[in-house]
Amino acid sequence: MERSRLKHLYADEQINNKQLFLHYADLDDPTTIRRVISKVQPTEFYHLAGQSHVGLSFDIPESTCDTTAIGTLRIMEILRDQPNPPRFMHASSREIFGTPTVSPQDENTPVNPNSPYGCAKTFATQMTKIYREAHGLFFCNAICYNHESPRRGENFVTRKVTLAAARIKAGQQKSVSLGDLDAARDWGYAKDYVEAMWLMLQQDTAGDYVLATGVSHTIKDLLETAFAHVGLNWQDHVEIDSRFKRPADAHELLGNPAKAEQTLNWKRSVDFQQLVHLMVEADLKRD
Ligand code: GDP
Repeated sequence: MERSRLKHLYADEQINNKQLFLHYADLDDPTTIRRVISKVQPTEFYHLAGQSHVGLSFDIPESTCDTTAIGTLRIMEILRDQPNPPRFMHASSREIFGTPTVSPQDENTPVNPNSPYGCAKTFATQMTKIYREAHGLFFCNAICYNHESPRRGENFVTRKVTLAAARIKAGQQKSVSLGDLDAARDWGYAKDYVEAMWLMLQQDTAGDYVLATGVSHTIKDLLETAFAHVGLNWQDHVEIDSRFKRPADAHELLGNPAKAEQTLNWKRSVDFQQLVHLMVEADLKRD
């Protein structure tokens, strides 16, 4: 089972089995989820699991919907049965808006997904609201815009670019192949978004919150920022490969974090440039 991102915690004797307790469960296997929940009796439940790659969801739509949509419903059903249902945070996604007609998007923007992943997330998001309203449970959606960090998978464009800049600088790679360079995203720091998720469950009432930076940048801006940080010119190292272009892709996404900022008193700690730099720095150290 993949747990490389927890390795530093797992290896720490002061933390493992003292503050961090790992249990096996699988979204495909509801009995295992029920068993862990019954045993642990959590007071807060943060649900971030599922197939989360938009491009990949066009290739594996059934399993994406199984884990991301039905997997979430299964968890909510188990939580509803608990004697004291915990507070629940569902990591929703801006993919629920598809290609939006309004910019920036907020909690009241109509859903209109255009990817299998977005469709699965829309189902899970709406169900979270239904459980809150129909069953009176403290269930919340964090509608997350792209959130990045040095732990980001290498098949996401930010990490692909920061890793390429570091490897090219170190002479381990010559070029990187990418798809649409004009697409724009609202990229924030995952660590900041996790803090907002925690704040959501500390409020007096449950609700849905857009987590975003309110600023968008193109893939070209990303390349410029990452390659300039290592003293390289990105135009010398980028090739276009149509395999990385998507059947349908939101050209620009921009979220409005005003509700989270006002209600949760949340503020992001880094801007776009600082985020890209910290990711490049981490990849330089890794090499
Ligand atoms: P997403 O916004 O959740 O789909 O996150 P990604 O990091 O996978 O993609 C962000 C944007 O980068 C999308 O508009 C992609 O079309 C675009 N993009 C351009 N080239 C690439 C590439 O080589 N890989 C990925 N993953 N995305 C790319």
